[in-house]
Amino acid sequence: MDLERGVLPILNGALEETGATVARFILLSTSGNRVQRVFSSGKEDVEIANIAALDRDFSKALRRRRHRLVIQDLSETKGPASMAQPLQSVAVFPVRLHNDTVAIFWVGADQSDAFDEARVNFLSTLANQAAVLVENARLFQAAEGGRRRLAAILASTTDAILVIDSRARLLLINPAAQRVLEVNESAYGRLLKNVDIPEPLKTAVLRSDEEQQAVEVPLEDGRTFYASIAPILDPQGLMAGKVVVMRDVTHFKELDEMKSDFVATVSHDLRAPLTFIRGYATMLMMVGDLNDKQHDYLDRILEGIDQMSALIGDLLNLRRIEAGVGVRQEACRLGLILVEAVDTMRARATNKGVMLRLDPAEGAPTVIGDCTLIRQAVSNLVDNAIKYTPAGGQVNVGLDVTDSEAIIHISDTGIGIAPEDMVRLFEKFYRIKRRETSDVQGTGLGLALVKSIVERHGGRVWVDSEVDQGSTFYIALQLPDEEEKADDIEVEG
Ligand code: ADP
Repeated sequence: MDLERGVLPILNGALEETGATVARFILLSTSGNRVQRVFSSGKEDVEIANIAALDRDFSKALRRRRHRLVIQDLSETKGPASMAQPLQSVAVFPVRLHNDTVAIFWVGADQSDAFDEARVNFLSTLANQAAVLVENARLFQAAEGGRRRLAAILASTTDAILVIDSRARLLLINPAAQRVLEVNESAYGRLLKNVDIPEPLKTAVLRSDEEQQAVEVPLEDGRTFYASIAPILDPQGLMAGKVVVMRDVTHFKELDEMKSDFVATVSHDLRAPLTFIRGYATMLMMVGDLNDKQHDYLDRILEGIDQMSALIGDLLNLRRIEAGVGVRQEACRLGLILVEAVDTMRARATNKGVMLRLDPAEGAPTVIGDCTLIRQAVSNLVDNAIKYTPAGGQVNVGLDVTDSEAIIHISDTGIGIAPEDMVRLFEKFYRIKRRETSDVQGTGLGLALVKSIVERHGGRVWVDSEVDQGSTFYIALQLPDEEEKADDIEVEG
């Protein structure tokens, strides 16, 4: 694979077998027009005049020629070859690879008629050997170049990257990931379950489903990373492993907390004056007759107040859920929750011309939590699915049950979400700016609320989406153990 180590034995072999003075190998550039590298071997103390000119001359002569060139008496030629003392005869061979001349191999002797047929044949065989050598070296270089590029990317990216194989052994952990997770290369080849990494990450990576998923990973030093986990599929579609890419979202988390504090203060203080305005606005009609225009204006004022109240309600809800105040623990029948959530959205879907369907849930399970909040989370997702799906589209709501979880899914055939927006989607006030959604009303709080509710219940929420194809949002909630189910669940707080 190393050209130099392969070529020199060939040159030495040529000298030994033919008793020649010099043997040279001239590697041409890929275009074939330039000399890229010269390897040479020869009798010591013999200086050959004009040798570089000879190399060029032979390269030029053989570049387009398939066949060897043997000159038994150089003194009869013109050009540089005639002055190549002490050489008297030469044999020049093209080294050909896939119909291209990639190099020239030539041998020169200090007597004339040095190359009889047997020697020429032998040298010709060596030229073929050299072609194999060049091919191997090129392939190796291409592969090595690709490997180096990839290694450079993995080494320099600030994203932490981790790869495991199908048996969950650690195959790769790039320098950024080594720093973030405080593990070193000695972890290579070990089973992931035995490597010391944060539990939420380990659990998410080792979960056996083949879906892409994401998880937030809080570190001990206070930073938070957002990990996307994707399966690696082999050409047969079987899972060959998983790749995990982690991005530092600490800054966004801090921002989110600042937003929460701000929101808590402001929304609380807004409630009282709003109630006040609403009160006086409704009283206007009671204290005297209003004309049509005044009625119309008053309706609009009340509408505005309602929107603001709804927003403040959402904000305070969010705050309440984040703080865990008054969240109930009761047995909630998910089948019923889905039916209720979908029913409240039916009118909205019909108005928009979107078909809303609820798959029948078999053996609809029960989870423990705050039924009103879970219903609200599902309604929010159904509401979004309708909002972000153009007329004629379809929204499907369904429920799957695994050994330990109930997974609610809400899929739409709408505008979809680009991968770069997914990281921040569940943040408060985060709205994606797209032309299609410029006239869609929203606060950017819906998904933040969903996330808070689901996390408060120890569940997971995530999304799978493709731009212009549609999105599927999932909520996974823990199923209670048999024991827990048997207990009579009391309403709390
Ligand atoms: P909003 O009040 O803006 O709907 P959300 O928090 O509910 O706020 O959603 C945040 C953003 O996520 C939305 O602005 C929208 O761009 C995007 N989004 C939410 N659900 C969907 C969906 N089903 N399809 C496409 N985009 C969605």
